[in-house]
Amino acid sequence: MGIPGPLYTLKLTNVLNMRRALAGSSFWGTRRFGSACTAKSLSTGSKIDNFTVQSIREIPELGVTGILMRHPTGATALHLAKDDSNCTFSVAFRTFPRDSTGAPHILEHLALCGSRRYPIRDPFFKMLNRSLATYMNAWTGRDWTMYPFATRNIRDYENLRGVYMDAAFRPLLREEDFRQEGWRLEKDEDKWKISGVVYNEMKGAFSDAESLFSTRCQQQMFPGTSYSHVSGGDPLAIPSLSHRDLVDFCRSHYHPANALFYSYGNLELETHLSKLDETLGQIMADCGEFTPLRKPMDGFQPFANPKSVEIMGSIDPMSDPNKQIKMITSFITNPITNSQTTFNMQILSSLLLDGPAAPLYKALIESNIGSEYAPGTGYDSSLATTTFSAGLQGITADNVPRVEELVLKTLEQVRNNGFPAERINSVVHQIQLGLRYHSADFGLGLVQRAASSWVHEQCPLSELAVMEKVNAFRKQYDEGGLFERLIDQMMESKHRLTFVMRPDSEYNQQQDKLEAELVEKLVGQHDQSSLEGILEKNRKLLESQDRVEDKSLLPCLGMADISESIEKSPYAKSVDPRKNLTIFSRESPKANGLTYFKSKVAIKLPKSKIALLPMLTNCLTELGVENMPIDEFDGKVRATCAGLNVSVHQERPTNESIDPALSLVLSSHALEENASKMFDLFGLAISKTNWQDLDRIRTHVNGALAGLANSIAGAGSSFALSLAAAPISSYRYNRELLSGISQIRVLKQLSADIEGTAKLLQNVLYRIAAKNAKAIAVITQDATLRPMMERSAQQLMKLIPAAKTRVSFKSTLPVTTRNYALEMPFTTNYVAQVFGTNPFDDNLAANLSILARLASSQFLHREIREKGGAYGGSASYSRMDGLFALYSYRDPDPLNTIKVFSCVADWLKNSVISESDLLEAKLAVFGDLDKPQDVAMEGLQQFFHGMDDISRQTFRDALMRVTAESLKQSGQGVFQNTKKRTVALLEEGGKHTGQLLGFKIDKYE
Ligand SMILES: [Zn+2]
Repeated sequence: MGIPGPLYTLKLTNVLNMRRALAGSSFWGTRRFGSACTAKSLSTGSKIDNFTVQSIREIPELGVTGILMRHPTGATALHLAKDDSNCTFSVAFRTFPRDSTGAPHILEHLALCGSRRYPIRDPFFKMLNRSLATYMNAWTGRDWTMYPFATRNIRDYENLRGVYMDAAFRPLLREEDFRQEGWRLEKDEDKWKISGVVYNEMKGAFSDAESLFSTRCQQQMFPGTSYSHVSGGDPLAIPSLSHRDLVDFCRSHYHPANALFYSYGNLELETHLSKLDETLGQIMADCGEFTPLRKPMDGFQPFANPKSVEIMGSIDPMSDPNKQIKMITSFITNPITNSQTTFNMQILSSLLLDGPAAPLYKALIESNIGSEYAPGTGYDSSLATTTFSAGLQGITADNVPRVEELVLKTLEQVRNNGFPAERINSVVHQIQLGLRYHSADFGLGLVQRAASSWVHEQCPLSELAVMEKVNAFRKQYDEGGLFERLIDQMMESKHRLTFVMRPDSEYNQQQDKLEAELVEKLVGQHDQSSLEGILEKNRKLLESQDRVEDKSLLPCLGMADISESIEKSPYAKSVDPRKNLTIFSRESPKANGLTYFKSKVAIKLPKSKIALLPMLTNCLTELGVENMPIDEFDGKVRATCAGLNVSVHQERPTNESIDPALSLVLSSHALEENASKMFDLFGLAISKTNWQDLDRIRTHVNGALAGLANSIAGAGSSFALSLAAAPISSYRYNRELLSGISQIRVLKQLSADIEGTAKLLQNVLYRIAAKNAKAIAVITQDATLRPMMERSAQQLMKLIPAAKTRVSFKSTLPVTTRNYALEMPFTTNYVAQVFGTNPFDDNLAANLSILARLASSQFLHREIREKGGAYGGSASYSRMDGLFALYSYRDPDPLNTIKVFSCVADWLKNSVISESDLLEAKLAVFGDLDKPQDVAMEGLQQFFHGMDDISRQTFRDALMRVTAESLKQSGQGVFQNTKKRTVALLEEGGKHTGQLLGFKIDKYE
């Protein structure tokens, strides 16, 4: 998220706990936001209400005017004025963890469970459906907690700010909610167990080997400090947190003096601040004195000598058990408060690690001793003290000492030889490209970037003024010795950690044992009557979860806030039937000095070869070209454009009898002056691909395999959904081949014969003939550039080499048995049930889109998340292929979930859908539909899916017409059709849930 480019992307792994990110927005709110002109008339010392301006500056490269202010309560406020209607707000607190009980994380959940003005359960989730927010979320970082939202509707902005402020400063923190969201003892048949949303969420996170590795490594790196604790909560430590502890944590942290307010966009600053000022005044009346927090690095115990630590983690049955060690070497670097050094280190890190010309990439990745970089590799500037780390995963035991050696040796070499000047220029060029790119969530990206230093009392404005830092970097670099000094500081420090995690086949059983012992200990602390009391409280919790609440306390938008007409595509379209070509073009100031293109060519392949496409696209741009060293080619690309992107795209089918069309999409963007060079390089990459470089192909196959396999735990629902849907939808069947468990199986097959893989991939490329149907899309700011862009984008597809030989390939095709369970090495489950429907019936599609929302918010969320203790339970509908799906995420009780799924039809039949329920579901669906997109993606529905303005308007009209009755009728039709219904389960190994259900069982291996 944030600005693309190697340096500024906040690593989402740092933000431990993303809650659901949802919803879109309408451009046509009933009231527009005001103008951004106020900012210009302010100066340091000016007052707006009780806020005093501390600093104000223009940041031209971002197109913003930034104002930093202070409130007498001690709160700081940052406003970034920009002519952007997607206005953003957040309130954040410093929450340095004091232990691993997960207090900051559980508090983040609880703050959203009801507040004084909105004393109803979970107003946050309820607001998702009463708003047109383009973003609503809450994040627990490693040392801060943030509540952000964005919307394009001013009334919505005010509504949401009201709900967020009340949640942050006046949460109810009921014990009952603590038991629901945090942890509780529960009796399941005759066995006691621990339950709770955060408890299960963190159990899921800890069963993911990558996240376990990063978390444990950080803990070891910072002994004695806040960072030796887990802010999200260590499952075995969470139950030592009491409700009282949590209330105390809230009192001492969620205080105005510890608050950071952020606002962004074209909102009227005075109105916004006067509302904040008013609320802060009221809050202060209830707040005690604020005791300054212990600094997160206080108590730091520096190592006397470099240290090595080894731990055990779970085994991945999908890959060779002898090649599963992860290891990393971490160096302590500068404090975050030294912001120029932070910037210089970011550049150094990018030079060391990114791309085939980077010395550590050569030493670690190209040596093929591991599958890919270890999690956490890179420069981490999100804590009070920064670190630089480099390591590998997928290595064998005998290579463990080699990794650290290679890291140290490479740093030594770089220290002596430096980097070629072109590489430094290309890193700076990438920064420039990133600054000019306007992403849909620009305001959100900026606060993420500013947060980590702002939390540690640094001026967020100087953090954001990137060009100033680029210039200072240039100057320091030209003076000489800059990187030498930075590397010396790293190498000379005794505080260096080498951290190793080895796979252990017993690991999961041991975790189960530890959990069982903990349960026994917790139960042992109670006598019989107190255990009865717990059961009674659990019954009360269940009751309260079933209670219908009066949501009318919460603000809500109305149908008048939703536009009746679509936002028309900004592209002009022309068709050239002779060339079998469609051209989409657009001129826009949003291009901001960049030119963008996309070229699309249809692919016709037998099913058995579809699964080769992801690896083909990967290799086309990563192997370099014949007769040129890879670093030279990569350097040219980085100095010219935003990378060469090739992807596989699947179109929405146009009617039922036709298989969905697949195509290859080539895309990139560049500064205007580099446009033609960008096409030259792209042409070279696809016509002169260096297929001889087998080592590099091996690197990419293994990297892709490890990457996809590692993503299962975090995205289990989509893997389960893909398995469930493959038997009933040809669109999903292809998706399963391209990105599901089947893709993992094929990658494994490819990794066993790299020479054969090289031949196969070339053969697939040759079959993507240039005579197939094509389309291009270009965006420019300057109209005179358009003809050249259009011509070059067409020419590019002609460079795809023509057929030579045929090679046969038998890939593992997806399992098409219905009701299927895959046994996984997890301690959690993911369930998906799907129903196939006719996607070409607009009325049915409209009804099911809204039904999915209603079923999620009115039924599944309550039954699966609140009662069942899963992290999530939802329904979704896809217009691509008419698939209606029910699914759960990180689910401790899949049997219950399947029972809940089977009750959806009855729920629909018996439920009374009120006008306001329907309105809420419509708001959510329209919000999604109208969500703003990055400039490179917006308005391309026809390019990608053949949906022109007329068909989009027809669907919008159908959505507008949906009634409670039509929705019930459509839903019942779908639930009754048993022919197109199936379930898939990614299940916890050893629990045999699938067997109990009579499913076909497979083992993940
Ligand atoms: Zn959470």
